[in-house]
Amino acid sequence: MNPFNNAMEQLKRSAELIDLEKDIWERMRKPDNILQVSLPVRMDNGELKVFEGYRVQYNNSCGPYKGGIRFHPKTDLHEVKALAFWMAIKCAVAGIPYGGAKGGVTVDPKKLSIDELERLTRVFTQKLANFIGPERDIPAPDVNTNPQIMAWMVDEFSKIKGFNVPGVVTGKPLEIGGSLGRNEATGLGGFFVLQSLAKKMKLNPKKTTVAIQGFGNVGYNLAIFLHKAGYKIIAVSDSQGGILNKNGHEMNPEEIMKAKKQKGQIDGCYCRGTVCDCVNFAKVDNEKLLQLPVDVLVPAALEGAINEKNAGRIKAKIILEMANGGVTPEAEEKLNKKGVVVVPDVLANAGGVVVSYFEWVQNLQNYYWGLEEVNQKLEKIMDDSFEAVWQRKEKYQTTWRNAAFALALERIEAAMKMRE
Ligand code: GLU
Repeated sequence: MNPFNNAMEQLKRSAELIDLEKDIWERMRKPDNILQVSLPVRMDNGELKVFEGYRVQYNNSCGPYKGGIRFHPKTDLHEVKALAFWMAIKCAVAGIPYGGAKGGVTVDPKKLSIDELERLTRVFTQKLANFIGPERDIPAPDVNTNPQIMAWMVDEFSKIKGFNVPGVVTGKPLEIGGSLGRNEATGLGGFFVLQSLAKKMKLNPKKTTVAIQGFGNVGYNLAIFLHKAGYKIIAVSDSQGGILNKNGHEMNPEEIMKAKKQKGQIDGCYCRGTVCDCVNFAKVDNEKLLQLPVDVLVPAALEGAINEKNAGRIKAKIILEMANGGVTPEAEEKLNKKGVVVVPDVLANAGGVVVSYFEWVQNLQNYYWGLEEVNQKLEKIMDDSFEAVWQRKEKYQTTWRNAAFALALERIEAAMKMRE
């Protein structure tokens, strides 16, 4: 699977639908800049290892490049290009003044000691230093990167510049200029989107069942908000496996996280345990979880979870795509035919970058907001984006993804044209 081909197929579907001007389509098929770097890191045992890192700056018509950095053994340039493209679309769907970018390092960070992880992050920051900055390109956390890693990036970048530059990355710890609410933002944003959809579809949350694949920052926080609102969580999983609520007991995300955390952390940064350590529930593997007869299925791990092979066996009525690229275009076609509502990543998971935007604004102003203000502003942007996507869906009588892309392309096109 090449995620960039998938992204370009999505672009094609929406471009044809809205009759996108050829010039704009042409520009949206290529990233502005690709930076590929070698990252020599001294391991604790004295050996030198050279990792590969990427930063793809896709488009900056609407504002500076923006997007996370992931550390994953399977990360490659195709993936980072796709993720950078999706960021450009996502920021335009949310109507925030950013373009799109993404970064990645091909590494299994769980096999590094905390000191090795820090050295890798600092070397990557050194290599990126001439290409990022608050006015140019602003990284953030993504898969396997977290506030601690962002703190090392700020520190390294600030040392290079000779002064403190908190706005160079978002998703920082609060102590060095992070925003209240950033950690939960992606989950909360997804929750707001599902609530809006529930209203349109006249769903009663208390009678709505949910399965979530992925129990990292996104899946876990979403589970908390859903649980509080009365949704019935039936199953959750992580990369090591999943648990299924067979006996009708309440699935409380906080208790599951407590069980997962019992085994402690791998040298300080990553959780050693799994949701399977919560012994009150039956086990279910990741593939079976996707096929459960639930109302809402949430892929919240990696791209391609729902693909051509398993799409025919999906029984959910709604898919809330919290993982970037969680549903492949082939799978989506099959799901559309079955009448499954697929709420696309570029809307469903936009809450993270929206609060990243708030964090950056606070950094630039040196004036910090309370949690209520952050969450209210997030809700407003998520509701407005949902409504704007809904209108395009009605106008074109199309899928949620095409509607979201139509909205984003309209906005990007308008910005490109204004600059001509
Ligand atoms: N990595 C997140 C995403 O895919 C957040 C990006 C950001 O905050 O810049 O949307």
